[in-house]
Parts: sequence; structure tokens; C-alpha cells
Amino acid sequence: MRKPFIAGNWKMHKTVTEAIALAQGLKERLGAIAPEEMELAVCPTFTALHAVSETLQGSPIGVGAQNLYWEEKGAYTGEIAPEMVKELAQYVIIGHSERRQYFGETDETVNLKIKAALAHGLTPIVCIGESLKQNEAGETVPFVRSQIEGAFADLTPMEARQLVLAYEPIWAIGTGRTATPEDADRTIREAIREVLQELYDEETAESIRVQYGGSVKPHNMAEFIVMPEIDGALVGGASLKVDSFAGIVENALEALSA
Ligand code: PEP
Repeated sequence: MRKPFIAGNWKMHKTVTEAIALAQGLKERLGAIAPEEMELAVCPTFTALHAVSETLQGSPIGVGAQNLYWEEKGAYTGEIAPEMVKELAQYVIIGHSERRQYFGETDETVNLKIKAALAHGLTPIVCIGESLKQNEAGETVPFVRSQIEGAFADLTPMEARQLVLAYEPIWAIGTGRTATPEDADRTIREAIREVLQELYDEETAESIRVQYGGSVKPHNMAEFIVMPEIDGALVGGASLKVDSFAGIVENALEALSA
């Protein structure tokens, strides 16, 4: 059984003061959720990680970073080592499409970051997904397949099972336009689970959680979470307010218990 997992990506938003207020509000609203029912995390900026992890102590909401560097330490000005992230977080988003688009991340660097995160006991949330052009050209499955092959290169089945994947069609991120739940579900089956089965085995393919990401809001969460292949969501814009992130979590729980 794959435990549902909803994570918020705060991107480059929130000062430390604002981040504490948001974390405090989420703790009050979602504090009673049983960790066995659903896994929850928020991913603030590096500057707010310490304050947010302190604020969320004793709550069911975990904390993740939005990036890391793969080297242990050294002359890498501006970068953050996995050990430093591990002091403050349990999760780390890797290979978000914005990092691939604006900061030159590739399948190779994504793979190096995944290995570094795993070596330090962090759970990687690895983002994959096609552009609008690829989608319209019918290239979604081969493209996502190649991202999966790159991300999982040289990982053992034991390591692979520790990853969380976020299938995020790039054209759905921050646009208000979502994939249909049926299309997202089919892509996850054909471009992710079938590939994982080829790379590993059925048990591994079926045990890895796959979130949907792309304009998830309180009003559309239920239709995604009930799909058989979708195990939660990676939420951008709607994770920046208590009401909308808590609404997403509450609606997901309600749909799952219906
Ligand atoms: C994201 O950035 O991962 C994301 C899914 O953003 P949004 O929810 O705003 O589309």
C-alpha cells in the first residue's frame, strides 16, 4: 500500500517571518491529522528551513528543501551540501522543471543529487514531466520515460523504493490548467510504472509513490487523489496560504475515505 503524500513547494516565496506564520497556521489547522493516514510536508526556501522546522516540531507536517548540491563540502560558493540539508529537513525536491529550465539541471545532475540525498537519508521528491510542445507532439511517454531512466541510473531496487516521484506536466505548472486526472493516471502507468517495472521489478514499480503536480487546488484535489496511480500531490501556488493548502489536504482525505 502506498501512503498518500501531499507536499507544498513554496518556491522563492516567504521571508522567515512570513514562513513561520504560514507554518504555524498549518500546524493549527492540520495538527490532528494522523501520520498513518497521510504524509505531509512543506518545502520552504533555505533561509526559512530552520525556523519552519522548529515551528513544525511535534506536528504531522514534515519539512523539505527545494534543492541540494551533490558534493560533500568544499569550494562551491552558493551551494548547500546534503549533510547541511539533513540537519533541517527530511525531504528534498530534486529536478523541478524550473531548475531544469532556468538553472541548467539535467538528467545527469538530477541523478547525482538523488544519490547524494539518499546517501544522507533524505527522501528525494523527483520531478518529471513534459513540455506543452512535447505533449502536443505526442512525445510525452518517451520523454518522461527518458527522464525516469536518467533519474534512476545506477540505483538499486532498495534505493529506488525510497524515492517519491512528482509527475508535473510543465504546461500545468502555475497556469491554472491541469492535465485531466485520466491522462495523468495513464501517463503515470505507461511512462513511469511500466518503465520502473522494466528497470526493476513489479514490486518496486508498484511501491514507488507518484504525486501529481500542476495547478492543484482545493476544488480539484479529490478528482486526482482517487485515481489509482496518483498517490498525492506536489502543490506550488496553492501551498502558500493556510486555507488553500489545508483545503487540499482535507479534500484529499475526505475523497479517500468516501
Ligand atoms: C510546482 O511548482 O511544483 C507546481 C505544481 O506549481 P502549481 O501548483 O502552482 O502549478
